[in-house]
Amino acid sequence: MTFPIVPDLLSSLFKKPNTNPFPAPQLPPTVTGLLDEVNQGKAELNPPVPAPERLRGKMTYNRETCIGCNLCIKVCPAHAIEAIPAVKKVRFYVSQCIQCGQCTEICPKQCLALSGEFLNASHDRYDRSLIVER
Ligand code: SF4
Ligand code: SF4
Repeated sequence: MTFPIVPDLLSSLFKKPNTNPFPAPQLPPTVTGLLDEVNQGKAELNPPVPAPERLRGKMTYNRETCIGCNLCIKVCPAHAIEAIPAVKKVRFYVSQCIQCGQCTEICPKQCLALSGEFLNASHDRYDRSLIVER
């Protein structure tokens, strides 16, 4: 009696993994620790595969065209957007955003988009890199 799975098992021993070894070829003890080392120039990230065209990553915001209507704030289910009334602009907290895209759809000036940038890990949710203001 032969098991049909055996040829598959044997052939998989000689195949490359389908997964992308990102951010490092071997699992680091912590991702944030690895990012700290990268920031200090002590380590390098393994390059990721190209982001898919419609990936919903970090918010981008064109402050110049924003008219401060606050419609984006009204539709945001994650309370990730804050109004700056003094200048009629807004600010995005990436650590809170769930990438639903509702703000990008309702913005009358098309000044919002979800980019392909997905590496947004940090110890600090209020890290400057995680606050989008322009
Ligand atoms: S993508 Fe969704 S969660 Fe993120 S800021 Fe826009 S509305 Fe809020
Ligand atoms: S919906 Fe667009 S124009 Fe209105 S406040 Fe938000 S980003 Fe600015």
